Amino acid sequence: MVADKILPPGSTIGILGGGQLGRMTAIAAARLGYRCIVFAPEADPVAAQVSAAHVQAAYDDAPALANFAAQVEVITYEFENVPEAAVSECLRHRPVRPGVQPIHLAQHRLREKAFFRSLGIGTADYQPVASDADVAGATALPGILKTCTEGYDGKGQARVSTRDELAAAWTKLGRRECILEALVDFQCEISAIVARGLDGTTRCFPIGLNHHRDGILRTTTVPSNLPPAILATAERFGVELANGLELVGLIALEMFVTKDGRVLANEMAPRPHNSGHWTIDACATSQFEQLVRAVCGLPLGSVDVLAASRMENLIGDEAADWQRYLIDPTARLHLYGKGESRPGRKMGHVTFVTPLWAAPTSTT
Ligand code: AMP
Repeated sequence: MVADKILPPGSTIGILGGGQLGRMTAIAAARLGYRCIVFAPEADPVAAQVSAAHVQAAYDDAPALANFAAQVEVITYEFENVPEAAVSECLRHRPVRPGVQPIHLAQHRLREKAFFRSLGIGTADYQPVASDADVAGATALPGILKTCTEGYDGKGQARVSTRDELAAAWTKLGRRECILEALVDFQCEISAIVARGLDGTTRCFPIGLNHHRDGILRTTTVPSNLPPAILATAERFGVELANGLELVGLIALEMFVTKDGRVLANEMAPRPHNSGHWTIDACATSQFEQLVRAVCGLPLGSVDVLAASRMENLIGDEAADWQRYLIDPTARLHLYGKGESRPGRKMGHVTFVTPLWAAPTSTT
């Protein structure tokens, strides 16, 4: 490691985006003695509740971005839909880790899939849908039609079995540039979360087994109990992706495991990921601390698993049950400080861990 590239504790990290991922990054940063400043357009973003300062401005406000950059030593982002131009503007002033290319790819499903293929990372069959001719010639059926940009948590998607259904779905999606992906008959969904340091060292967290409902992650279980060959492929894909991007930071790769044991990449997120929240309570280093270490040029931390765990998201009104988790000795509760609960809104999560040793209960 190059000593002069280390940002020591006491330095300030800038975070583009004000959501729960930034919040948990700021908490991990504070534990190691760093300060965070959050750039986000909204008032009272949950990341700023636990940070040193909040720059409230629009992502296209170049003077505000320059002012933000001047107050920090390094910049990261906590969501991949941060406008590319905002990241480029920040880069004029400070290092941005993990940089522009990861979001350039992650913001566009076709670019992303082509990049996976270029690295030898398997994907479902796919084809572009951007014209009536594309619809008429479509073969990746049955499939899922997805908008190339701005889709997340299952939004901007439609399942289609025939070309007629495809035509109707494409019209409903506004005849925007789309990707048609063949429907994967998967046995399960998994994710690899890989950190890559300034010196090119990589470290992959143990693969999580993910369960989605209505396009939203509901639970992640570790260990996944999948065969070692599948886990090795998933880890290799994650590491190849991080190396292929020359990433400094953290990246999550979501994958399908097909019923015949193949691993296919679905999408990537160059930031902490919901399926890595278990690491806070059940891993030697959390994904958030690992991101802080990577962007500050520190050695990456151990990914030893401390306990078996299952993370459950608390979505919408589910967070109202918080008291229940406080009296469960296996539950580790995390609430994101979001005022208003709305259907589909991630309000918190709880990680159930299997204790190695349960303390005797005291009645006093
Ligand atoms: P995405 O927005 O691409 O993450 O998709 C959300 C969820 O839809 C995934 O986690 C899967 O459960 C499902 N899904 C997406 N793409 C496919 C596919 N090609 N085949 C089967 N299921 C899919």
